Amino acid sequence: MLSVNGLDVYHGYVHALKNVSLNVRQGELLAVLGANGAGKSTLLGTLAGLYKPAAGEIIFQNKKIAGQSPEKIVRAGIALIPEKREIFSGLSVMDNLMMGAFHRYRQDKADIPNDVEEVLELFPLLQGREKDLAGSLSGGLQQMLAIGRALMARPSLLLLDEPSIGLAPLVVREIMAILVGMKESGVTVVLVEQNTKAALRVADSVLVMERGKIVHHGSSKEAISDSLLQEAYLGRT
Ligand code: ATP
Repeated sequence: MLSVNGLDVYHGYVHALKNVSLNVRQGELLAVLGANGAGKSTLLGTLAGLYKPAAGEIIFQNKKIAGQSPEKIVRAGIALIPEKREIFSGLSVMDNLMMGAFHRYRQDKADIPNDVEEVLELFPLLQGREKDLAGSLSGGLQQMLAIGRALMARPSLLLLDEPSIGLAPLVVREIMAILVGMKESGVTVVLVEQNTKAALRVADSVLVMERGKIVHHGSSKEAISDSLLQEAYLGRT
């Protein structure tokens, strides 16, 4: 469903992605691992239309999307949950969810209340908190709200940038279980993580980046049993 070929991205003089190519199947959960500065966030940002590639192609559901605006890419079915979560902390939980459906207002407005119900079923801990300010929620609930808001756009591809950052292990497990549930319902997931252990537990496949390049791409099973790979790039898990 997603095919990236020969992607080159620069931030000024920094060559952040170097000839990056990858394929993701429908319903796959791909973990993107690697040290700080490896280019993981740049990869997600480029898929979401935040950075324009200098070269290369991104084909999503048979359409070329490289260089398109973020709005167009959201409409095509790709949603990004950035590292800083970027929920609207001064708005209520409900208003945050509604903001996620903003671009749908003119198309399928009638389905929106139903989708809110579905998101709240997926995140029972948000139930009863609909009127609370998003900024008053715990870190874990804010991350759930950020995912819920992204789901309101009805994406077929969800991009997550370090959803586990700053969260307690139990909450990380909950978030990962939700990602597995989404994958099982047919949503394709690309998960950037520093928490290698948590990511390998749920991923189907793994991509390791180093200094803008992909240095490994394989199954997560293989990565878990590959001690050399773990030693070289991932730290022991
Ligand atoms: P982290 O886990 O620290 O976010 P990362 O693997 O996601 O790391 P990127 O954030 O994609 O890596 O950064 C890749 C390279 O591009 C780094 O050298 C970084 O300093 C640089 N970079 C990223 N964003 C910008 C920017 N907006 N302007 C200039 N350089 C940038």
